[in-house]
Amino acid sequence: MADTRIYNTLSRSLETVSPRSEAGRELSLYTCGPTVYAYAHIGNFRAYVFEDLLQRHLQERGFAVRRVMNLTDVDDKTIRGAHASGTALADYTRPFKEAFFQDAKTLRLLPAESYPEATDAAQIVRMIAMIATLMERGHAYRAEDGSVYFRISSFPGYGKLAHVDLEGQRQGARVASDEYDKEAVADFALWKAWVPEDGAVGWESPWGKGRPGWHIECSAMATGLLGETIDIHCGGVDNIFPHHEAEIAQCECAGSGHAPFVRYWMHCAHLMVEGSKMAKSAGNFFTLRDLLAQGWTGREVRYALLAVHYRASLNFTIEGLGAARTALGRLDAWHERLVEAARGAESVEKPDPATEEFFTALDDDLNISEALAVLFETLRESNRGMDQGMLTPAQARGLLDWLKRVNGVLALEPEARNEELPKEIAKLVEDRAAARSAKEWKKSDELRDELAVLGWIIKDTKDGQRVTKG
Ligand code: AMP
Ligand code: ZN
Repeated sequence: MADTRIYNTLSRSLETVSPRSEAGRELSLYTCGPTVYAYAHIGNFRAYVFEDLLQRHLQERGFAVRRVMNLTDVDDKTIRGAHASGTALADYTRPFKEAFFQDAKTLRLLPAESYPEATDAAQIVRMIAMIATLMERGHAYRAEDGSVYFRISSFPGYGKLAHVDLEGQRQGARVASDEYDKEAVADFALWKAWVPEDGAVGWESPWGKGRPGWHIECSAMATGLLGETIDIHCGGVDNIFPHHEAEIAQCECAGSGHAPFVRYWMHCAHLMVEGSKMAKSAGNFFTLRDLLAQGWTGREVRYALLAVHYRASLNFTIEGLGAARTALGRLDAWHERLVEAARGAESVEKPDPATEEFFTALDDDLNISEALAVLFETLRESNRGMDQGMLTPAQARGLLDWLKRVNGVLALEPEARNEELPKEIAKLVEDRAAARSAKEWKKSDELRDELAVLGWIIKDTKDGQRVTKG
């Protein structure tokens, strides 16, 4: 089997993925999760879909992937949101957590092994312990504002991920907020002393009441659950600095001193809208819910996010979703045709060895364009074969088996028709049928949209309504 190579942001080069031990071929994967102060937008989901493709491909290649994804449920943004809406922090973040899991399912993301939450008592204890170690070792200090800061001058490796040059930096300059850019590189907050705007949010610590900084949260959750060294750590490119740079500093200074925090760093480029990064702060974002309500399916959104190489920036357009719909339509028609052609097959004939190139393309730093080219070339060729009556049932069976393997990685298979609908969904479908009989078209459309937001797609066919999970 060919080696799987990925681009490591740390070394700025392609590297072969190897497990630390051949026994079990285990790889740990830590993926920075959503900050639950709003609905995740599809830019966030671009990162999660890329990570899902990575995990699925590594699994196809025989690695046992242990993935952890955190939920950032306390940071500057969540506190600001809770404060502005006059809600307790946990009540404020809960619906966004629930929505995240629902959206992740709609986009067919494999569930992680665990989803630690930053406010979990056990995690806070770990964060405090890590900060205490950093203090003992002289990597952290308490400033006049009562907060604890990481001393970047104490860690010569600071800047190695983002390639920040510390020469000429003002010693001891500090930054309290979680996010800042490279020009403002400075000692960053590990523990933020309580201020009145924090309201009821705060935990007791050796440095008084306060809360953790965003960066220490990920460091503590990642090493707490996956150990001192993590094989692969992912996020969007905006995470490289300061977030991941800070994570390295914290973990390598609080650890045994012998092990790197992460072996392979991978970052996906941004999802863009008209030349700018899709971001909540820029207000140029779409949530998955927005798109479902417009009649797009989770599968179509997944295709659109997946089809462009993760290190290339992807411009989001509705035409792009239209192209995804067309491509999936072709795959579905082909699939149905193959099923028909495979009827009565008594044996299975392996497809052309060239079809393996689908997987070897993904071995090349997840070269999805090449992989999709192999998929559509296989589709074209076998359609030609079927047009000429040349494809045997055994060959069709072999192609269907291959497609199943392909979909183990892409997860773009058509949704099986769902006979057993959940009760609430069945009720909405029934209401819609009644509305249609009564020619209440507006109500019928509203019910269709409501179902779409819940992740169910309804189509009107000559045999009545057909409901599928989107
Ligand atoms: P946040 O909720 O802002 O902490 O972001 C969660 C994840 O989404 C991080 O890995 C970010 O790097 C990623 N992300 C945020 N915006 C975008 C975008 N426009 N395109 C791709 N990834 C993004
Ligand atoms: Zn993180």
